[in-house]
Amino acid sequence: MLWSALGEWFERERRALPWRATRDPYAIWISEAMLQQTRVETALPYYERFLARFPDVRTLAAAEEDEVLAQWSGLGYYGRARALRAAARLVVGELGGRFPSTRAGWLALPGVGPYTAGAVLSIAFGLREPLVDGNVQRVFARLFAVEGAQGSKELAERCWELARALVPSTQDGLRPGDWNQALMELGARLCTAAAPRCEVCPLRSTCRARILGKVEEFPGPRARKAGQVVRLEILVASRGDELVLVQRAAGGRMAGLLEFPTRELVRGRTAARLWPARHLSGLAPAPGRALGELTHTITHHRIHARVRPGRCECALAPPLRSCPPEQLSGLALTGLARKVLARLLSLTGALR
Ligand code: SF4
Repeated sequence: MLWSALGEWFERERRALPWRATRDPYAIWISEAMLQQTRVETALPYYERFLARFPDVRTLAAAEEDEVLAQWSGLGYYGRARALRAAARLVVGELGGRFPSTRAGWLALPGVGPYTAGAVLSIAFGLREPLVDGNVQRVFARLFAVEGAQGSKELAERCWELARALVPSTQDGLRPGDWNQALMELGARLCTAAAPRCEVCPLRSTCRARILGKVEEFPGPRARKAGQVVRLEILVASRGDELVLVQRAAGGRMAGLLEFPTRELVRGRTAARLWPARHLSGLAPAPGRALGELTHTITHHRIHARVRPGRCECALAPPLRSCPPEQLSGLALTGLARKVLARLLSLTGALR
């Protein structure tokens, strides 16, 4: 009953997406890695570009890390891009270029968790493997009136139990990959967090939360962590016809990505430790107005950044470098640096 209602709806309403037109585990794996952190509409152009540049696991395994990060730049969670490359190298180096066809095999790859393993195995290999992402969790929480706060272990475990019990097998004449995708599609398009459309939902007659009149109460509200506000000053410093960039240190957050010279403001004053003199002694803000203010959120940090014009008259050495403005968008920039770039474009119309 559940499957036939959901399956018919999915057959009728499924969006034609490029990763749904293939059974290639590589392409499906890449799409799932992107979709874990962004919406379909945002992921689409990244997916097309990534697959055009790295069409198979061997090209990804052979690529330089900088190039992979550049293709990923703007999607965030850069550790995921590094893990994709590391996993590709392992598949090529140790598995002869063939992807595993078991859950244990996928879970042994860098960056692959239960969700990705379930997605690739069910969609590409047609295996009876469950998955739970944020959309599926919301659908299950409402459909079965599952107690537990969003983000809680209790809710996650109960939803995985349901997913394992409900995923069909091809022996039932049903495709497990379609079931998993139908659940995710329902969560993304009808059973949304902000405005569930129960009146057109194929599961409305069996949905516990709807029958109880408590759709808004499932899943339970997330326990909030206080967001820490960080104030930054960002320097868009010109050096001749180029702009100055800094590469983030290896081993830290967003390691290896490029950003504009940045320092933290503490109670309105600069914190020298985040504007290291040894790198930036020749850099200085130019007199005059700021280029604008930006906000940006990273995990539990809410960033307020003031963007200032600057100049640089010193010789550059790593981690500093400079780049013509028109080439910036092709580099592996942090998400905040991309926002700065967008602000520059809006101010100048186009960067030379
Ligand atoms: S009836 Fe409403 S709450 Fe229940 S699954 Fe459908 S959209 Fe979600």
